[in-house]
Amino acid sequence: MSTSMAAQGSNGSSARSKLPSMIVFDLDDCLWTPEMHELPGMPEIPVHGDLDDNGTQGVVGLQVMRYQDTVKLYPGARKVLHELATNPKYKDITLATASSSLEPSYSYACLDGIEILPGVVMGDMMSHNQIGRTGRLSPDKVDHFRLLHEESGIPYTEMLFFDDCNWGDHCARVSERYGVVGQQTPYGLQWEEFLQGMSKFEKQAASK
Ligand SMILES: [Mg+2]
Repeated sequence: MSTSMAAQGSNGSSARSKLPSMIVFDLDDCLWTPEMHELPGMPEIPVHGDLDDNGTQGVVGLQVMRYQDTVKLYPGARKVLHELATNPKYKDITLATASSSLEPSYSYACLDGIEILPGVVMGDMMSHNQIGRTGRLSPDKVDHFRLLHEESGIPYTEMLFFDDCNWGDHCARVSERYGVVGQQTPYGLQWEEFLQGMSKFEKQAASK
């Protein structure tokens, strides 16, 4: 990996850099289902299954004690996160979450419990998390993005955002306010939507 970096030179802002510096994911109904407020309690029982198409076993979901309710990733979201975790092409992209979850402790439990690779949980991949709607956060994701920007120092125009947008057009909000490139994922993140988002970002970067 270091040799390919060297080949690109030390100038991170070269014309070849068309990947976002940061990808921000909504959680409920974008990466996983169901929504946290639909759960009857803390999701805490590991559910095992295939982490990928090759039969690698791991914790694919978390179930609520004494209930059938289980939080699982959408297949497309699992594929996207697996790709981001394993493809060297994406290794310099910072990953983050922006969720207006009504139950942030459940959200963090899922991030800390659901694996993408054996021994690598979702939370290990995320450098920044803004989850909730109280305190400095609100249901308006403009707040989440302001804090992500403050924490990371990454310009808004170098961010790509995925959100189901089924309860308000969060993508449009942060695009209008900050110029963040957004991709809607109304049925949970699909692989094609990931590629569309990356392509949208590349076009915006090229237009500058
Ligand atoms: Mg959502």
